[in-house]
Amino acid sequence: MEKLKAPRLAKPSWLKVKAPAGENYERIKGLMGDLKLATVCQEARCPNMGECWSGGTATIMLMGEVCTRGCRFCHVKTGNPKGAIDAFEPEKVAYSISQMKLDYVVITSVDRDDLPDQGASHFARTVTTIKRLDPNVIIEILTPDFRGTLPLVELLTEAKPDVFAHNVETVERLTNRVRDPRAKYRQSLEVLAAVKRKDRTRYTKSSLMLGLGETDDEIHQTLRDLRNVDCDVVTFGQYLQPTQRHLRVEEYVHPDKFKEWQLTAEGMGFLYVASGPLVRSSYRAGEFFMKGIVEKQRREQRS
Ligand code: SF4
Repeated sequence: MEKLKAPRLAKPSWLKVKAPAGENYERIKGLMGDLKLATVCQEARCPNMGECWSGGTATIMLMGEVCTRGCRFCHVKTGNPKGAIDAFEPEKVAYSISQMKLDYVVITSVDRDDLPDQGASHFARTVTTIKRLDPNVIIEILTPDFRGTLPLVELLTEAKPDVFAHNVETVERLTNRVRDPRAKYRQSLEVLAAVKRKDRTRYTKSSLMLGLGETDDEIHQTLRDLRNVDCDVVTFGQYLQPTQRHLRVEEYVHPDKFKEWQLTAEGMGFLYVASGPLVRSSYRAGEFFMKGIVEKQRREQRS
């Protein structure tokens, strides 16, 4: 007998975005292509790409376009790059940032379980090279979990990114279903805790996708877990199914509910909360806020 499938949810009006366009958008797109750099904006089909690129912000993805993990929500290709890496990438990225005249950059990477140090030293060298070329640029990194190998997390913390982000992505119960089986909820919390243990002056950040079947109690618990490891910033966004092969959307969460989560998280002591259907881990409004915080911290450290 033919198996009946539950109907897919229709996309609500609040998730419609304009197609990307504009001078800055074309300039960044051209530069990324010329330098053969990957952006997570393109790979992950981020709905805010037009807004961010038009505003001069892009998230650069290191170590290629093929990830050794296979998270069921993610559009990035899965495979085994067999140790291949562009040794000059840190210099290329630093050069492109200087050309784009960005004052806040977000650097992320695919997971590279095929490399002996999972790419941690390459990532750290990119951060230090960017800082050497432009000491004023503010750097946010969004990292893999390095399979919970904390010395690798510490190595990256020592490169002194201004914001160290690592995403729990979803609540504990759904982690195994949503993320690659090598990713663990507690392991991700431990990554964030290790950053603060190593250097309390680094800001930490994590993100949650809503609409995957999580309950309110589970979201509350996740927020408590993040505060318990001293996480400074949290963001909430709607999960969108990139293709039919990916996990289905269980719920389109109403914008009012996102507003409620924002107030709840602010009340729990997060330094900054971004919450809305189209909010993504790197998001212009959040970056603008963190820029103000980091600049203040730098002024205080100088005086
Ligand atoms: S680790 Fe998961 S979310 Fe990150 S790029 Fe790889 S598949 Fe995507």
